Amino acid sequence: MRWQVRLRVEGPLLVGKGTPTQNVLLGRDYIPGSVWRGALAEAVLRAAGALAPGAAGQAAELPPEFGLAFGPETRFGFLYPVPGEKWDGFPLPLTVRSCKARPGFACGVHGRGKGGGHGVLDMLLVTLRRHLGLAEELSPGCPECRERLDRFRGVAARMPLSAGQDTAYETVKVRRQLLVRVGLDRRTETAADGVLYALDAQVPGRDRALYFTGTWRGTPEALHALHQLLDGACPRAGDGWAIRVGTARARGLGRAVLEITEAQAVFLPPLEERLEAFQPRQGDGQPADPDHLCFALLLKAPLLVRDAAGVACGLPAAAVLAPYVTSLPVGLEFLETVSVLEWESSDGWAMAWGLPKPVQAALAPGSVLAYRAPARERRAVLAFLEEVENGGLGERTAEGWGEVVACDPLHLKCDAGKEAVKQ
Ligand SMILES: [Zn+2]
Repeated sequence: MRWQVRLRVEGPLLVGKGTPTQNVLLGRDYIPGSVWRGALAEAVLRAAGALAPGAAGQAAELPPEFGLAFGPETRFGFLYPVPGEKWDGFPLPLTVRSCKARPGFACGVHGRGKGGGHGVLDMLLVTLRRHLGLAEELSPGCPECRERLDRFRGVAARMPLSAGQDTAYETVKVRRQLLVRVGLDRRTETAADGVLYALDAQVPGRDRALYFTGTWRGTPEALHALHQLLDGACPRAGDGWAIRVGTARARGLGRAVLEITEAQAVFLPPLEERLEAFQPRQGDGQPADPDHLCFALLLKAPLLVRDAAGVACGLPAAAVLAPYVTSLPVGLEFLETVSVLEWESSDGWAMAWGLPKPVQAALAPGSVLAYRAPARERRAVLAFLEEVENGGLGERTAEGWGEVVACDPLHLKCDAGKEAVKQ
């Protein structure tokens, strides 16, 4: 089962991106699953006395619920910044473009987004239709001001509106500030001479808090075990627990309240509806490729799959995916020229080990993987998509890697071809 996770951070937050360069530690916009999983596990272990000197790694010290709450069957998803608690954040797909002069979504809700951008155009369906041999004329620039279109990166959020209304989309503006701190001398525990360093932290705006949302996955028993452990380790705060998350916690950063609740808002239409709406059509509405079902996977977190030789693989074709899933459509074809992929290496700090994690290259969040399968494989396609949406794809799924959205409605809503027809 999937549960909704909300994190409200009071004050600045720093989730480090790699090792510091020149005394500057750069921060991420989002919170990887391993970061909040590690923060919770550390709080629980500390409360149980398992982090005392000489006690580390002694299984006997661990509370009995620990294995259930943090085991490989649970998944701590990536948490994305959102404008408020009712939103669902996600990385913008690498297929989107926006006006060079005024980038961003055109309109928001509640007067938000006023004076915002000139709209977001998504190129995935245009590229897919071209791949299928359909010619399509696109206006070369921004539909509002004819300015050049640029790649548009970052985080977006969506909120379902009441019945009959469309989902609202908004660009999430992440405010950052370089916090300069004095280095401490380990020997004397006073300010070290000539050592300054800078932390590239996220800082809240006017409402004094940063909001992040995402999902946690596990059985109801595992959730109960997690609740019990947190009750014993962290003070209650409202409907959640007061925790510390991220880097520089000793410097007062990352004070947060975590809530894990039953998911109520539904941010995406049912899978079958999304798949149906995604199928490319000709100008007269007829299916452009009636012999196949096309679909796309948007990565909400890094994706690590290995090829037959065990090497991290950047072209996740059917043969590469096969070992990671139980249901794979026969004749599944990876559309390399339609997909937009980016490669990144990630590292981190293992709280439990007190050591840096090995650097690992993987496909980056925001990458879009396009596939098609024979139309007769419809049931297998749906089973495959359901499996990867629920359980994640590839390796390190327990820390949220491999989280995907199948046929994200954003591709359709912002379809650049549709915009061109409107004009
Ligand atoms: Zn414009």
